[in-house]
Amino acid sequence: MTIAFTQVLEARKRIAGRILRTPMREAAALSERVGVVVRLKYEHHQTTGSFKLRGATNAILSLDRTAREAGVIAASTGNHGRALAYAARLSGVPAAICMSKLVPHNKRQAIQALGAEIHIVGSSQDDAQAEAERLIAARGMTMVPPFDMADVIAGQGTLGLEIMEDAPDTLTVLVPLSGGGLISGTALAVKTLNPNVRVIGVTMERGAAMQASIDAGRPVAVEEVATLADSLGGGIGLANRHTFEMTRRYVDEIVLVSEAEIAAAIRTAYFEEGEVIEGAAAVGIAALDARKVKPVGPVVVVLSGKNIDMALHRRIILGETPDLSAEA
Ligand SMILES: *Cc1c(COP(=O)(O)O)cnc(C)c1O
Repeated sequence: MTIAFTQVLEARKRIAGRILRTPMREAAALSERVGVVVRLKYEHHQTTGSFKLRGATNAILSLDRTAREAGVIAASTGNHGRALAYAARLSGVPAAICMSKLVPHNKRQAIQALGAEIHIVGSSQDDAQAEAERLIAARGMTMVPPFDMADVIAGQGTLGLEIMEDAPDTLTVLVPLSGGGLISGTALAVKTLNPNVRVIGVTMERGAAMQASIDAGRPVAVEEVATLADSLGGGIGLANRHTFEMTRRYVDEIVLVSEAEIAAAIRTAYFEEGEVIEGAAAVGIAALDARKVKPVGPVVVVLSGKNIDMALHRRIILGETPDLSAEA
């Protein structure tokens, strides 16, 4: 099931004033290297440190009164959990986040500090998911998943509206890709405003679930391997309802980047632009500098988030490409 452009326009009205309109900046050195104008969409400056606040806020504000009172729930400890907790508190809606015992203490605390109720159960993501389903049945809470929900996709699509308003001459947009909520919404908005713009999804070589699913012609599971782009981990859901079809329909190409290319792009953002970005946000710069996309400019690269462990960031800045799968 795909969603309509009007849903993106409605989302923008709904979330206005609750999310930042993030800036777009030209990357001079990168533009010089690839030979076309490259602009960076500074979405890592978004409140909570990632674009996930757009979709989470739109989902919460779209609930009816009964659903608002019962609250929202998710089984995500990353940027989505953080965004949902923040958006819920701002709207006075209860939020519960379910996680397994294996989730590091600092991640737990970050979400707890945002006022969400934390449920720690079992030792896997599946256990956390089962607990979420129990709470939905027992308390009538609404599950807000990280990508495969119309209101979430429409919210992420507001980023595409901003790109085309601030840089109407754009010809290529590079978007980090995991479950596909960000790219589905963004591509819908961008291509409705100008069908000639190419939208390219970029993801890591390790565990590229959307790419594997498109190759297979249906949603498939992939083995999860630790990666510097941790926010791009996880599958697209075997019962995917929206993002698989939308990605197939709107996305022109999917490009994969290596761990070393991601690390190099984190350094590029830091040394050339003075910006701290997480691995997932670095994949667009990585694809350009590795010459993995044909640079038809002007190009916009979406920097999707900044939530990286700072000790890990420091190692990368000092020149390392940490192999997280070996360290785990
Ligand atoms: C969630 C996330 C992505 C991927 O978004 P999808 O909608 O799952 O494709 C990219 N970058 C960051 C920083 C994220 O948190």
